[in-house]
Order: sequence, then structure tokens, then C-alpha cells
Amino acid sequence: MHPTATRAAVLRDFNAPLELTEVPLPKELPAGSAIVRITSTTLCGTDAHIWAGAMPFVPLPIILGHEMTGEVVALSAHSGRDACGKPVEIGSRVVWSESVCGHCQGCTVLREPVLCDNRGYGFGQRSDRWPYAIGGLAEYVYLAPGAHRIVLPADLPDTWAAAAGCAVKTVVRAFANAGGVRPGSTVAVQGSGPLGLVATAFARAAGAGQVITLGGPPNRLALAAKFGADATIDVTDVTDPDERVAQVEELTGALGADLVLDFAGAPTANREGVLMCGKRGTHVVVGIAGPQAAPVPMDVVMGREITVVGSLNGDVGDLARALRFLSAFADRFEWDAMFSPAVGLSGAERAIRDMESMAAIKAVVDPGLD
Ligand SMILES: [Zn+2]
Ligand SMILES: [Zn+2]
Repeated sequence: MHPTATRAAVLRDFNAPLELTEVPLPKELPAGSAIVRITSTTLCGTDAHIWAGAMPFVPLPIILGHEMTGEVVALSAHSGRDACGKPVEIGSRVVWSESVCGHCQGCTVLREPVLCDNRGYGFGQRSDRWPYAIGGLAEYVYLAPGAHRIVLPADLPDTWAAAAGCAVKTVVRAFANAGGVRPGSTVAVQGSGPLGLVATAFARAAGAGQVITLGGPPNRLALAAKFGADATIDVTDVTDPDERVAQVEELTGALGADLVLDFAGAPTANREGVLMCGKRGTHVVVGIAGPQAAPVPMDVVMGREITVVGSLNGDVGDLARALRFLSAFADRFEWDAMFSPAVGLSGAERAIRDMESMAAIKAVVDPGLD
């Protein structure tokens, strides 16, 4: 018999302490569903934004955390195999994608699960309504039938697997949507949070000739350099967006970058991103600047034949490739340098504040620790 309740850190009001409480787990498991004991949750910038009230449309109460990994403790009938064909069993270590419905236009006609009309984002579901426990700041979590799971190799650390669940798969998809990295080309990465750092490493690993990372604070830019950036620009030093564009122009010998990816989500980022592109360059929009974004100069888009591409999160294919990328380049890039020491659920609120203040690059919660 699987557990019927879980300890969880619940967000009841924005910008307020999390409540450590018991939340029910579904008693009956619909076909294809599972219960997982969480062994690691890594926090995402979005968790900090929601906690602080920057996304007021998020329904409360909820359990924050949408990057997690754990061990299957209960399986419905017909749970079968993972997305890559491995059997899913009690005790399997798994990660999973947001659930998708399989029958909307995004799922069927477009065959792009990230565009599913009914995608089960954890932060769209209240913790006081069935199936209650779908967030990472809890001991146990319910896996919906449409959440494609991947059984993890034994040597892949929990924190890496958890981070693949949002940050790393988002980076993988952004490069895929850009059409990849042409060997020897120039890549500029806007942002030095977890996504910007992983993107810096990805660009290097994919064969870029020059990688420029823009962000801050200095400790993150130092890590960007270790992850392969040839040059970094501290946006708190160089506060004028046009000066940042001029610096990229200078660094690229006046040619501009072939590929500029925005993981910063700042209001001026996409205007800058387009201006940093050289002729026939590509700008990928991943960050969300909100309604106050600076206008993108469409005359430059036209005059230089720039391609502007949107990229939204990632699907189970991006997740599978993210896991392989982390494994394949484990010797080249010190992924562990991104993660803070794990804390228990009682430290979750502090961990979220550390994400908000940028004291942590990736805060880690292990719900089993307290
Ligand atoms: Zn996220
Ligand atoms: Zn769908």
C-alpha cells in the first residue's frame, strides 16, 4: 500500500513563509500514474518569481518546485516502460516531463508536446485539489499518466537529473530550435543563471568558435569562463545596453554574433539580442521580458536577414538529450559547481530566498533530510 499523505512545504500567500504541513496523495492510482519519493528538488528562477508574487495568476495554495527526481514507490497497472523503452519498476530512479494530453492540436497535428493546450505545469495546480501533490517541495509526488518518465542511469547524480527537468532541457531545446551551432561560429549567451551557464557549456561543446556570455554577478561569470566562455560582459558594470552591443561588436571583429540566445528575460534583452546578431544571425527568445519589453528593431531584422525564434521550455525528447549531454560532458564541465548544498524541507524557504537574491545558482532541497 503506498503512502496516502506527504509532508510538504506549501505556499499559501505570496511573499510569506511556506507552511510545513501534510498534503494528501491520491488513494487510487489511475492507469499510467505513479507515486515517487523525491530524493532531490532543484529550484528554478520561476519558483522564486512565484514565491515573490511576480506571477500573481498562479493559483494558491501550491507546492513549489518543478525540477525533481526520485524513486518510484507505487505504480498503477499498465505503467510499463519509460520514454526510451526501459521498464519502470518499483525502486526505479526517474525524472519526468510535464504531463500532456495527447489529443489536442499541439499534441497531434503539430506533434510538439510543449505546445499542448492541457500541459500539466506543477505551478498551475492547487495543492488542495486532486491530485494534490505535484510539486517538488514534498516528500512524495504524484506522476500523472501523461507525464513521460525516463529511468536514470545509476551514475547520474540526483541534482543533475532534477535540473534537467527544467533548466537543462530548456537550453537543449533552445539550441535545437535555433538549428544547432555551426562549428566555428560565434555564440552570445544573454544571462548567467543556470540556463545561461549551461548554454555557455553547450555552445562550447557543440563546436562554437567563440562564446560570449553576458550576465553577473562576477562569481557566475567566473563559472561561465570555466564552462567555456571566451569573453564575459558584466551587465552590472556595463549598464548601457548599447554599450553592451558595442562590446559584442568589438569582440566579434565588427561581424556580430551568428547566434544570440536570451536566457536573461530582461526588458531590453531581445532588442539587444537582435542588435548583437550579425548578418544572417539568429536570435532565440527564451527569457520572458514581460509587457514592458523594449521594441525589437524590425528594420535590423530585415536589413541583416536575422531569424528570431521562440523557444518554450522542453519536451521529453529534450529531457532525454539533456540527461545525455550532462553525462557526456561530466569530465569537461564541473556541473556540481552550480549546486548549493542540499537542505531539508524546513530550509526550503531560505533556499527560495537564496534563488531570489542570486546567492545560490541552483538551490537544492532533499525532502528526506529533515
Ligand atoms: Zn523552471
Ligand atoms: Zn495536448
